[in-house]
Formats: sequence, structure tokens, C-alpha cells
Amino acid sequence: MNNDIKFNLQKIQDRIALACKKSGRSSDTVQLLLATKTVSADRIQAALQSGHQIIAENKVQELKEKYDALKHIPHSNHFIGHLQSNKVKELIKYGVSCVHSIDRFEVAEKLDQRLALAGKDIDVLVQVNTSDEESKFGIAPEEAEQLIRQISKLEHLHIKGLMTIGLFSSSEEKVRACFKRLRKVQTEIKDLKIANVEMTELSMGMSGDLEIAIEEGATIIRVGTAVFGQRATPDSDYWNEHKKQF
Ligand SMILES: *Cc1c(COP(=O)(O)O)cnc(C)c1O
Repeated sequence: MNNDIKFNLQKIQDRIALACKKSGRSSDTVQLLLATKTVSADRIQAALQSGHQIIAENKVQELKEKYDALKHIPHSNHFIGHLQSNKVKELIKYGVSCVHSIDRFEVAEKLDQRLALAGKDIDVLVQVNTSDEESKFGIAPEEAEQLIRQISKLEHLHIKGLMTIGLFSSSEEKVRACFKRLRKVQTEIKDLKIANVEMTELSMGMSGDLEIAIEEGATIIRVGTAVFGQRATPDSDYWNEHKKQF
């Protein structure tokens, strides 16, 4: 019943391998994260059984609903959605090891407070809005340094890099410009050598643009549709706004 998933995962691995080859990178420098919003636990399970180890939800509610069905299968849980302060406690409870979508100090601070109480630490990526457009989420590139300096002082959060959602566009150049922009911010922040800040990870590239992202230096690509099929729910439900086609 879930044979499509195995087949799709193989196709993704082939795409990763080809893009890496084209840009002279080794395939093991790119991690595949499965974006599982709206996907049922049994389909996620099928994907995990094929040996893919990182999954990520956009909503704490979905994380919670699928948790019991998946907890016995070894995997890492990341979080890629817009995080609300009142959901932080649960996020920690369900064992998320990396949050890709930190874009405000308030939520980072709340997360740090809750982690202190739980005696845990977490990895975070700072989400940058590289397309200056509809997606409200993500900090502006010019403001990233200030936010990162603030977060770097929080004891239980460890900044590992940056995340972005590329422009949804048929223009390869416009999409590529987003990823280049993220990489530029990465380089700038790296040069500042801020304590408690690593800039090793670039989380960028999805089903439609992963090759471009890999060519521009992605270390984590987040793939949903190309593995699990089209979602019935529009992404605007998750991203807060419509992404127009340019
Ligand atoms: C849904 C989602 C993805 C995966 O998108 P696909 O186009 O289905 O591969 C990646 N990143 C984020 C933040 C998402 O919400």
C-alpha cells in the first residue's frame, strides 16, 4: 500500500546524488528531512522503515497526534513550522531536537525558559526571509545578526545555522537568488565568530527546488510532496499566507 513512498524516496536520493555530483559535493553532505505535515502516521512509518531518519512537523498538534505511533521507530524529530509561545512546552515534551523556524526573540526566550525547567538543550536554526515577499515568517536578512546575537546568550539553545523557504517561482534565477542570499548571511555571521553560534547548517530546498538549493550549499533539504504526494491542505494554512506564482 505504501510502495509509492519507497519508490519516491529512491527518486529523491537519485536527485540528491545528481545535484551533489554536479556541484562537486559528496552526497553525505546533504541530509534529507521529510516534511510530514498532513501525512498519516502509517505513511510516515513506511518512510522511516526505508531508513530515513529525520522527520519534521509544522504544527505541535500534529506532532502530538502521531507521536505514539512513531515513538518506537528510531528517528529524529525536527520542527519547521511557525512556533507559538504557548506551544513551546509541548514541543519539548515530544522530543524535538532541532527547531528550524526561530525568527523572534520572544519565542526563543520562552523556549530557553522551558528547556531550563526540563533540564534539556535544543538545536535551533534561524529562519530568514530571503524573498522579501508574502511569507511573513523569517527575519529580514539585515536583522539576522542582531537576533542571532540575542539568541546566542540563551544557555539552552544552540544555533547551528539558518533556514529559508525559497521563492515559489518558475524563474530559476529568482529562486537561486534566495538561496544565495541565505548563504551570504551565513558567511557574514560566521565571520563574526559569535560565542555559542555555529553556522554549519543551511536548511533550504524543497520538492521543487532542491537541486538549486544543493548547488547553493544546502546541508538539509526539506521534502514533503515528492515523497508523500500532494497535500489536500494548502500550504497557506501552515505558512500564514498565500505564496503566489511569479
Ligand atoms: C511543507 C514544507 C516543506 C516541504 O515542502 P514540499 O514542497 O512538499 O516538499 C519544506 N519546508 C517547510 C517549512 C514546509 O512547511
